[in-house]
Amino acid sequence: MKRIVIIGAGIAGLATGCYGQMNGFETEIFEMHDKPGGLCTSWKRKGYTIDGCIHHLAGASPASKLYPLWQELGATKSLDITFDKILRRTVDDDGNELNFYTDIERLRSHLLDISPGDKDLVEHYIKAIQKFTRFELLAAIGSGGLGMIRMLPHIPKIMKWGPVTLEDFAGRFRNPFIRKAFPTAQYDFPNIPMMIHLSFMAGCSGRLLGWPTGGSLEFAKRIAGHYEDLGGKIHYRSKVKRVITENDTATGIELTDGTAIMADRVISAADGYSTIYGMLGGKYTDSFIEEYYSNPPDEQEMNAYVSLGIKKDFPGLPHALTWIMTDKIELAGRSYEKLDMEIFNSRTGMAPEGGTVVRVPFTASYSYWKGLRESGEKYKAEKERISETVINRLDLFLAGLKEKVEVVDVSTPLTVERFTGNYHGMQVWMPAKKPGRTMGKGLTRTLPGLEKFHMVGQWAQGLIGISTAAILGKKLMKSICKSEGRRFVTSSA
Ligand SMILES: Cc1cc2nc3c(=O)[nH]c(=O)nc-3n(C[C@H](O)[C@H](O)[C@H](O)COP(=O)(O)OP(=O)(O)OC[C@H]3O[C@@H](n4cnc5c(N)ncnc54)[C@H](O)[C@@H]3O)c2cc1C
Repeated sequence: MKRIVIIGAGIAGLATGCYGQMNGFETEIFEMHDKPGGLCTSWKRKGYTIDGCIHHLAGASPASKLYPLWQELGATKSLDITFDKILRRTVDDDGNELNFYTDIERLRSHLLDISPGDKDLVEHYIKAIQKFTRFELLAAIGSGGLGMIRMLPHIPKIMKWGPVTLEDFAGRFRNPFIRKAFPTAQYDFPNIPMMIHLSFMAGCSGRLLGWPTGGSLEFAKRIAGHYEDLGGKIHYRSKVKRVITENDTATGIELTDGTAIMADRVISAADGYSTIYGMLGGKYTDSFIEEYYSNPPDEQEMNAYVSLGIKKDFPGLPHALTWIMTDKIELAGRSYEKLDMEIFNSRTGMAPEGGTVVRVPFTASYSYWKGLRESGEKYKAEKERISETVINRLDLFLAGLKEKVEVVDVSTPLTVERFTGNYHGMQVWMPAKKPGRTMGKGLTRTLPGLEKFHMVGQWAQGLIGISTAAILGKKLMKSICKSEGRRFVTSSA
């Protein structure tokens, strides 16, 4: 039996392992943390669960083309999915409120109630959402030539809505509040293409996107459990120091405690930089890889969070809310005129009875936080200062919050780096040169000059998302089967 070692028990590593086991390989996963999931994680504080990942799970119901993937990975068995009635509510201090209802008819009448004068544009918007209902962008990733052919009927709408940003479209409304509120539809990304927003709205209305009750870690644990049921083995607290190579062929791994594990193939589902420059000493690169990793961004949107566990229920609030404030707020040297909130009440299972978790994302510079960490106590002091600022401001919006806060948790890019090994606590970013490469060839699925070695997950493809990570694991195992002359098979839990 061929032996494969996999580095990292994030969603990509787990999915790769599951499909490896289904296809008769002997696989083992080595994970530096004490739990599975990688970025797909949650953590507990005094009975509150703080979620670090899933806002939307693609493939949330049998209506989605991605659902069979999660079935094969054992994630769907008695899985309870919450389908939000409101994608996001945006409010301002003048009492205006825009709800992105996932019931499209309700959205239409809500928009018309706010602004009857925008009737034509509202009809145009609603029609566009309806046109996207049969389009599942995420399901097309990695599906190769056939997938591309299936995409053909969708090309006209992609061409039409791809170049228009949320902000561009918002500017077409006559109503001043909608003009201001519409760009907040997808968190803090006013410049994302309308195509993405329309896919989201269509996905939520068709129940293709949902939220797995229990949160991200519980979801990852389902896949880890299934992997073990298939006979796979996960070694936790097992950090890989280097990939062993002989004659430019990967032959195994060495852990930080010196243990060597030999294998027929090595797959890294871990961070790209530490794989290429740490575990392989930078020996297998080319000019594209060098250029990519020598220019990391210093910050990314929503890469830091203040999370609060509050002993109070705030009935009637949706899962996602944006507050456009009259007075700006300053967080870590940046000024914000709005606060995004993710809200989990006790019905979600994330807060004790009568309690609520509220998470506020902000954008953090890696070098700023790194500098603070290097000067000792300043890192902790800045976390405390930011959380105090957020609590004081939220108390104006959610009256009575301040004296009911039981848990304060601030995560920065350094937190993500420490727990998952991701370079500078970043998610994969678009390459400055050849950005189209991420859809086709990926960033680094293999490395130049190194045999029997593969990469999988966000750093291999250059795309984020847990469904993408899982698809890539399946796709990789399919190609390994092909090169070993085996017929690729799958089974459902
Ligand atoms: C705040 C946030 C919100 C998100 N929201 C969503 C969402 O709503 N929907 C969605 O689909 N996606 C979402 N994502 C994206 C998604 O979480 C990631 O794209 C996906 O989880 C990446 O999976 P991965 O397996 O490629 O990598 P990772 O999750 O990074 O897994 C890598 C694993 O390798 C391990 N590792 C690293 N180095 C070593 C080593 N030397 N030895 C052993 N093990 C090692 C790590 O501990 C980790 O477990 C979100 C991400 C973030 C940060």
